Amino acid sequence: MSDIIASIKEFTEAAAKKADTAYRASMLKLSAAALAKMLEIQYRELGSAVYRMCKSEDSAEKEECEEIAALTVQIDGTRKRIASLEKRIEYIMGLVRCPGCGNTVKMRNAYCSACGRRLAAEEEKTVEENENQIEDQMLKITN
Ligand SMILES: [Zn+2]
Repeated sequence: MSDIIASIKEFTEAAAKKADTAYRASMLKLSAAALAKMLEIQYRELGSAVYRMCKSEDSAEKEECEEIAALTVQIDGTRKRIASLEKRIEYIMGLVRCPGCGNTVKMRNAYCSACGRRLAAEEEKTVEENENQIEDQMLKITN
């Protein structure tokens, strides 16, 4: 009898823990969503501040506006380099990114484990080719 009570108690405690985890996860998701909304507002405010600055007749503000434009281009370039390097790293580690959902999948897999999309067999590259490409990337970064 006490065994049954103990197992019921164990079961309800486990269920409560599970519910608590799910509750905490959903609260965290809500917080993340609220922060994402706040970020949207902050981006919008940043956008209008930059817009006002770029429209200004003040030459110093105009110059700053040009600096921001140049930085934006540089940031795009850096992001592209990072993405390219990440792709290389994944390739070396035997992973590919699913073109459907962006999930990283083992190269030998024929289908994506997340969305089930058929993965195209990537052309075989030699280790040397990969290393050369990595060197090219490193040179681009350090230049
Ligand atoms: Zn996928």
